[in-house]
Amino acid sequence: MRVILMGAPGAGKGTQAERLVEALKIPHIATGDIFRAAVKEGTELGNKAKSYMDAGKLVPDEIVIGIVKERLMKPDCKQGFLLDGFPRTVSQAEALDENLKDRPIDYAVYIDADFDDLVERISGRRICSKCGKSYHVKFNPPDVRGVCDDDGGDLYQRDDDNEETAKERLEVYNEQTSPLIKYYEDKGLLKRVNGSQDPNGVYKEILNVLGVQEG
Ligand code: ADP
Ligand code: AMP
Repeated sequence: MRVILMGAPGAGKGTQAERLVEALKIPHIATGDIFRAAVKEGTELGNKAKSYMDAGKLVPDEIVIGIVKERLMKPDCKQGFLLDGFPRTVSQAEALDENLKDRPIDYAVYIDADFDDLVERISGRRICSKCGKSYHVKFNPPDVRGVCDDDGGDLYQRDDDNEETAKERLEVYNEQTSPLIKYYEDKGLLKRVNGSQDPNGVYKEILNVLGVQEG
């Protein structure tokens, strides 16, 4: 199954992706995670991406598209994949279509959450420094404060989750990414789910629109 997970920053894409890829046995390709790993490692890609990420802007299309194309060529993507945070512009979506001519996307799942929820989720998000798992101080706290349940890694707040950058990211989303809702609707691929409910409810709705039985 080839799936795109769409939604504004903080909608819950990463949270749902983690469960979905385990259930569907497909790789999780999150461009934000790829960039954060590159920044952490101090690679050339990381250095290029960092200034855009810190400013809440999109990394230029030509950089992102190249990275995703390369990733989709890997053998583990033969049985399908889940894209999270890509595409984010119409040009990225068109490049993806072109790249996937012989194996098109099956579904574009749009997690639709209220604006107030997005702001609250972004401001309370905490990430494991070891595995990247996402927590929330109120909605999904770890068992021990500040520590990942899975591997004991320290939890940190993303640099771009501060109020000012988050506001910019939400504006960028509205301007550059939200047109993709119509793009996939016109192709008959869009599946809208209510993202303003608890994570279990969102997960059930997603499985339902994908036609997958739970369990
Ligand atoms: P995205 O990948 O879309 O930016 P995340 O999955 O990282 O969003 O979720 C943003 C924050 O909101 C995280 O702290 C996460 O734990 C929390 N969260 C995710 N889904 C829900 C939900 N349905 N209800 C409440 N909090 C949620
Ligand atoms: P995310 O983890 O999806 O919230 O992404 C974090 C940041 O990485 C974004 O604010 C962008 O700066 C950058 N980024 C991630 N995915 C893309 C993309 N598809 N196109 C451009 N920039 C991206």
